[in-house]
Amino acid sequence: MQPLSIYIHVPYCEHKCIYCDFYSVINGKNVREYFETLVEEIKFRASQYSATHEVKTIFFGGGTPSLVQTKYLAKVLNTISKYFNVCENMEITIEANPGTLDNNKIKDYLSLGVNRLSLGVQSFFDDDLKFLTRIHSAKEAIESVETAYSNGFENINIDLIFNLPGQTKARWKENLTTAVELPVKHISAYSLILESGTILNKMVLDGKVKIGDDDYDADLYETTQDFLSNKGFEQYEVSNFAKGNYECEHNKAYWEYRNYLGFGTSAHSFIKPKRWKNFTSLSQYLLSKKKSEKLFVASEEILTKSEQLEEYVMLTLRSKGLNLNELNSLFGKEFYEKNKGIISELEKDKLLLKEGDEKLVLSQKGYAVCDEILLKFEY
Ligand code: SF4
Repeated sequence: MQPLSIYIHVPYCEHKCIYCDFYSVINGKNVREYFETLVEEIKFRASQYSATHEVKTIFFGGGTPSLVQTKYLAKVLNTISKYFNVCENMEITIEANPGTLDNNKIKDYLSLGVNRLSLGVQSFFDDDLKFLTRIHSAKEAIESVETAYSNGFENINIDLIFNLPGQTKARWKENLTTAVELPVKHISAYSLILESGTILNKMVLDGKVKIGDDDYDADLYETTQDFLSNKGFEQYEVSNFAKGNYECEHNKAYWEYRNYLGFGTSAHSFIKPKRWKNFTSLSQYLLSKKKSEKLFVASEEILTKSEQLEEYVMLTLRSKGLNLNELNSLFGKEFYEKNKGIISELEKDKLLLKEGDEKLVLSQKGYAVCDEILLKFEY
């Protein structure tokens, strides 16, 4: 049995945040039909992959999964348990927006077996949240963490964004200080990205908003690394930090190049060597249920061995490191032979470190210039 991770996309939001380019709809329409379609899609893929795979993690992402009634999430979980082999201690994550959570929902999630909560906090300053057009306040964010923890959620992540317009280093550190004082085990810290097509991007292009340049961004990133490592949060991916063994198993499946199935609008799946992407629009996704030969898929590709190698190196190096034994057994020795010189230069510059005889991992400094490092390799 191969390990399998399952992602469920819930494409509903209360409103569209100015910086966001994830697919979501704000009219709250067709929720029942959407989840019925999801169930059909899950059953279909189970008929192809359940005999060879065992589900290790499930992740409800969005959109805002905490916006929909819990009965829909329960239906999805029941379908997965019924049609797939699932392992006993599955990690089940739900992404939630602090403005949509309450005591009852938190209790419902726990009773469904959800054991990891990921909160889109972004900042603990109300003016930042207002700028980002988030629906919650800083107080609600703190209350959500505390309520979830006191009800029994041990594994809580919060997402934070740095390099917001006008954000001083002192202010960013205040955010980090508030974060580590809360009972959270995991922090994802992302630099503000200007995605094309978003309102924020247009505001920046029109000169209405200014964000810090690359040097300032790198400075805030290094501040984050130093601050969180001093507080016991170990970096295990470019943007992710965890205490003890509270790393996100679901995201690690992507980064360790394992198989995953994504269900719902715009979801991606990867069962080596095939990758596919579902229809992005809700109406097309719903329609596809009736056309059995199309089966929700907008595009698919079979990855060549060299494309797989490139992805494998990129994903493993961005996270917990490249295991040379595994690399050799999956792809042969050519990559290492071709890149020996570059690897030893990177080691000399302390950007890449050797862990034991067989593992190459990025140093803290290496994570900061990860993209540049990856461009140096030959495939
Ligand atoms: S709540 Fe999240 S998914 Fe929805 S629009 Fe805002 S950032 Fe995007």
